[in-house]
Amino acid sequence: YVPGLDKGKGLYFLFVKSETRTPGGLLARPVLTSYYKSEHFKTRPYDPYNVYTSPNEAILCPDSFQSMYTQMLCGLQDRHQVLRVGAVFASGLLRAIRFLQLNWRQLSQDIETGTLNQKVTDPSLRECMGKILKPDPELARFVRHECSKESWEGIITRIWPNTKYLDVIVTGAMAQYIPTLDYYSGGLPKACTMYASSECYFGLNLNPMCKPSEVSYTIMPNMAYFEFLPHDPNSAGFTRDSPPKLVDLVDVEIGKEYELVITTYAGLCRYLVGDILRVTGFHNSAPQFHFVRRKNVLLSIDSDKTDEAELQKAVENASRLLREFNTSVVEYTSYADTKTIPGHYVIYWELLVKDAANSPTDDVLKQCCLAMEESMNSVYRQGRVADNSIGPLEIRVVRNGTFEELMDYAISRGASINQYKVPRCVNFTPIMELLDSRVVSTHFSPALPHWTPERRR
Ligand code: AMP
Repeated sequence: YVPGLDKGKGLYFLFVKSETRTPGGLLARPVLTSYYKSEHFKTRPYDPYNVYTSPNEAILCPDSFQSMYTQMLCGLQDRHQVLRVGAVFASGLLRAIRFLQLNWRQLSQDIETGTLNQKVTDPSLRECMGKILKPDPELARFVRHECSKESWEGIITRIWPNTKYLDVIVTGAMAQYIPTLDYYSGGLPKACTMYASSECYFGLNLNPMCKPSEVSYTIMPNMAYFEFLPHDPNSAGFTRDSPPKLVDLVDVEIGKEYELVITTYAGLCRYLVGDILRVTGFHNSAPQFHFVRRKNVLLSIDSDKTDEAELQKAVENASRLLREFNTSVVEYTSYADTKTIPGHYVIYWELLVKDAANSPTDDVLKQCCLAMEESMNSVYRQGRVADNSIGPLEIRVVRNGTFEELMDYAISRGASINQYKVPRCVNFTPIMELLDSRVVSTHFSPALPHWTPERRR
């Protein structure tokens, strides 16, 4: 689809994540971490179509700062050879841009002198970079000149002028990042090539240069045994007497939505992946699917997936801190704010303060932010602590009556008063504007939540 990719390199920001152990002592890690650490990757034969700017040592460095720093340095040094820029998910590529915004001065310094910043301490990485780096004052001047400009619009094509496309997943929850990617890349095509999970590889996009909204993934029937649970948002659910009827891969119907069910070679049996897919067509007999959304996911910034029950629990735990101030949370909703890099969770709170003389202070509300983060699942906390892929959680306190106004607005647009439920997550612009215009104070989590690679039992 893109000619000449064998004539240059790919700048891919690839990372390994910390491994964890299950309570039974088994090693657990995401699929890409397994892959990068495997001999398949480390000793891959030379392939002119897959030459990366990042050396293996940089990709495999467990410290995310050192890994990103050296990958960026190599990408800058090879800037004319770079033909595509990518990361697994769109959020990862934006994090790299943010990293460049914060670190271009040190990076330029290293380029100028051909030396490596002392913050990179990993011995094998230092040794490997020692062989790659060479002084290039002209390149250093160029990087300083471009990065010190006020506007970063089109920065990707300014620094890597031969980039033909971005290789990142922008379907599903990642679609929220498309406008920002377009801003930084001047609207370069975005190729979503694959649909996969740690449990199983699912499918490929056979038309990778299509628009993000038109992406369909063709399921590869040899990857697992695929079955589909018809998804009907209006159904009351399944009961013992009327169990769900699973549909085989060959029997799915165009236009219908299904939940993906897999039986894998590794031993998962009729495992519910949690993804909702819509059939868009067939490639030969293999159905093609549009990724609709993840089931029950309210908030997602990176690989975190927070559902309604988790958010509810987090709000409950945090609001305990308000008791001594005779204050309670009357209503709440949430928003995944991806305007900041990294993105962060925003929780809107309407409070009932019964004793105005003793209302909760900024400090207390900051502690509420942290308490909420402590309640989130381990993938969220890992994103905050180890991967730096999620920013501090924010509480925006809105003035009294705001949620009633929200309801009035929904009713004015046709919602029924009987059926109205406060949305636990919002992203519709008029609603966001309404909420933001009623904010009386904002508070950010002051510290990192607790996280270790050992799983909580
Ligand atoms: P994980 O199990 O953490 O590796 O994440 C797998 C999940 O990421 C899938 O079940 C999907 O929800 C999501 N995902 C993976 N690939 C895509 C894609 N191409 N488009 C949208 N979501 C995706």
